[in-house]
Amino acid sequence: MIIVMRTDASDEEIAAVTEHLSARTLTAHVSRGSERTIVGVVGITQDKDTLAAQFSQLQGVESVIPISRSFKLVSREGRTQTTVRLAGGAIFGGNEIAICAGPCSVESRPQLMGAAEAVRKAGANVLRGGAFKPRTSPYAFQGLGEEGLKLLREAADRSGLSVVTEVLDVRDVEVVLRYADMLQIGARNMQNFGLLRAVGEARVPVLLKRGISATIEEWLMAAEYIFVAGNHDVVLCERGIRSFDSHTRNLLDISAVPLLHHLTHLPVVVDPSHGTGVRDFVGPMSLAAVAAGADGLLIEVHPNPAAALCDGPQSLNPAAFEELMRAVEGVATAVGRRMPYSRVAAAAG
Ligand code: PEP
Ligand code: MN
Repeated sequence: MIIVMRTDASDEEIAAVTEHLSARTLTAHVSRGSERTIVGVVGITQDKDTLAAQFSQLQGVESVIPISRSFKLVSREGRTQTTVRLAGGAIFGGNEIAICAGPCSVESRPQLMGAAEAVRKAGANVLRGGAFKPRTSPYAFQGLGEEGLKLLREAADRSGLSVVTEVLDVRDVEVVLRYADMLQIGARNMQNFGLLRAVGEARVPVLLKRGISATIEEWLMAAEYIFVAGNHDVVLCERGIRSFDSHTRNLLDISAVPLLHHLTHLPVVVDPSHGTGVRDFVGPMSLAAVAAGADGLLIEVHPNPAAALCDGPQSLNPAAFEELMRAVEGVATAVGRRMPYSRVAAAAG
């Protein structure tokens, strides 16, 4: 059930609603939007219709929406699109398209400083890079750990970027929180419920990637875990799903973007790098994603892709990324969206 408060509802009226809920041992999840406050209700109720009728009578309540879906707090019903803001200024879910870019993994100081400077210059506003890497083989490069996090923070601060980086294990949440502006849950951990609860208790936005074979419903239920634990700043990231065809690394589900905008109020980002695994397809799929309504892109960029320790074949070099950002701005403008740093405006002014 979702309780939609009137635009002029006072803090006292909202508090009265949450008190009535706790008196019935129901949990209230209050989200204050720019226009109105919505109270998501979680818990077992015997008679939903009676409860909805009772809450409709309370002062300041505009409507009560019963939700039959299994995902409730992330459901679109009764809600406008959520906006998620990172420390450092990046916005997901507004008019602006967030551009997250950087190497697959943090490898060294020169590699990361070079990547950060290049992506910022080309128009990105969030630096990505893994310090804890989810590698299929235990013998592959596993990341630099805390040393990598320190480099990410330093590079981002130097270039004026926010940091998104993956947290692989519940035991690492605390250390990643010391350096990151956004916690990434990777595809392989989408249903690691302990980790979802742990990042749900954090007060930093979460980028939740789609599981390798996850349905949209399973993905939204994973987001619901984070919400229920108290963190309402969740951004979804479509990164391709496993298919029967091996020409691309994954099958990038662009249709997930409009579908998710229909089902959920959460912002949606697309990762065409892992989605295709092929450098040449990253550009076209970035443009398709923005045309389909994506609220951001996550793109792997390496100063020297041929020497990358991880995901070189799908990484762009700085020149290709810069060229792509020009094209993305064209599509963004055509669909009424803005880039964090306009190259066109910069060139004109
Ligand atoms: C990544 O973004 O570095 C990554 C490992 O992605 P995914 O979890 O989507 O495979
Ligand atoms: Mn990668």
